[in-house]
Amino acid sequence: MSAIVSVNVDKNKGRSLSAGDVILTAEPFVYLLSGSLKGLYCDYCFKKSEGYGRLQRCSRCKSERYCNRVCQVKAWQLIHKHECSCIKRILPKTPPDTARLMAKIIIKLKNGGDQLAEEVRYGKTRKFKDLMNHYSDIKKDRARQEQLEALTVVLGNYLGPDTLPNTADLQGIFGRICVNSFSITDLDHNGLGTGVYLAGSVFDHSCRPNAFVTFNGPTLTCRALQPFTDFDISKVRISYLDVMTSTEERVKELQRRYYFTCDCPGCHDPQRDKLASSVVCGLEGCDGPVYIDEQLPPSEPLPPCTKCSRQSPDTHTRAKYLSAAGYCREQLEECKDQYFLDIAQHGLDRQGNNFFHPMNLLRVRLLDAATEAAISLGNWNLALQYGIQNIPALRLYYGERHPNVGITLLKLGKIKLYLQEQKDALQYLTEAEGILNTSHGNTHPLYTTQLEPLITQAKQELTATQNKHYNSPHFSLVR
Ligand SMILES: [Zn+2]
Ligand SMILES: [Zn+2]
Ligand SMILES: [Zn+2]
Ligand SMILES: [Zn+2]
Repeated sequence: MSAIVSVNVDKNKGRSLSAGDVILTAEPFVYLLSGSLKGLYCDYCFKKSEGYGRLQRCSRCKSERYCNRVCQVKAWQLIHKHECSCIKRILPKTPPDTARLMAKIIIKLKNGGDQLAEEVRYGKTRKFKDLMNHYSDIKKDRARQEQLEALTVVLGNYLGPDTLPNTADLQGIFGRICVNSFSITDLDHNGLGTGVYLAGSVFDHSCRPNAFVTFNGPTLTCRALQPFTDFDISKVRISYLDVMTSTEERVKELQRRYYFTCDCPGCHDPQRDKLASSVVCGLEGCDGPVYIDEQLPPSEPLPPCTKCSRQSPDTHTRAKYLSAAGYCREQLEECKDQYFLDIAQHGLDRQGNNFFHPMNLLRVRLLDAATEAAISLGNWNLALQYGIQNIPALRLYYGERHPNVGITLLKLGKIKLYLQEQKDALQYLTEAEGILNTSHGNTHPLYTTQLEPLITQAKQELTATQNKHYNSPHFSLVR
């Protein structure tokens, strides 16, 4: 018996789509909450717990936690009835996330999931086995082979030897996870877990994507970031990684993780690559960019400024830049998994005043890290100071309509509102609305539970302050 779920991306074929139009909505084939977030979010719907210990535990394995009985029953029917005994078998140990995700797939395939198909184009369906597995690439990849060997041992204990597929099947499943998984994110785009989507895996990558994926719980929605004429699903490109990186870094990362060499327009933009590695000209106050090619020896003269075309006679700039850039990379490496304010600030201090160009990626990324760290520490003034100056760079590297720009504007607007600077707040929030309305749509919780209430609040407070001024006996003096 085969179950075909029609997700019908092709319903748009030949039509004109506007930015913000939905291209695909899909449920995961399997998904998993990150082990590090266990107890903080519901394992079924990914809703945040009202407080630690407030979720209800599965009484058998005591591992899975849910909002309520409804989520528990749905999770049980979906997959947990098959995995609960596995979790119990190896208690108090818990398998790593990748092993649990693989186990869910193995269980699902054994229970009819192998016949589950999603119709993406008319008459063309995708089953789990149709996902790319990069079999030979993964076979040659030492790091991944070692990971798979370790996973096989864990899975043998977890599933029991009778349920464990043969080595070739295991590698096929592992390969499909490696190249097809999505990181499921929350409203702020922080990772919550991992999901494998049948129809959702149809999209190719571009470093200049024309579509964007958002999540509401584990439900995936892909929207157009720009208009399409004569829509065809084969034209849709999403980005598999953070595009606020250099072409060199992206090419390396895409090859390492997905085994392909990106050839998108974003990877053929020498102007942008030069800007990303530039210092401020500074000749007679010129703010133009001067490209520093890090491959050249420190003694090599500088190229002319892109803006004023003059060439600086300075012979120390290149060496100074190379040393600062090396230091900044170390600081960024330390901020890879978690942002630290002091570490980001050390990097920015080393860049000096008006030396690294505002579009230099090492500056942009450190400012981004400093903004996020300041927000998490509740240091609002620093967050504004770093965040506001970085907006033009975010617009350049992500693109005007990218949701990351909208989310940053939303955060800045929220801080401004908290600091009672309602006029500024409203400006940032309105700009955020223009972007998030397209990337998330006006029914997404980010829009309805965060953005909309903040805009209403900003407007109300603004009116209240204005009225206060009118009613004030000192009104004429104030003006
Ligand atoms: Zn729930
Ligand atoms: Zn259980
Ligand atoms: Zn590319
Ligand atoms: Zn210049």
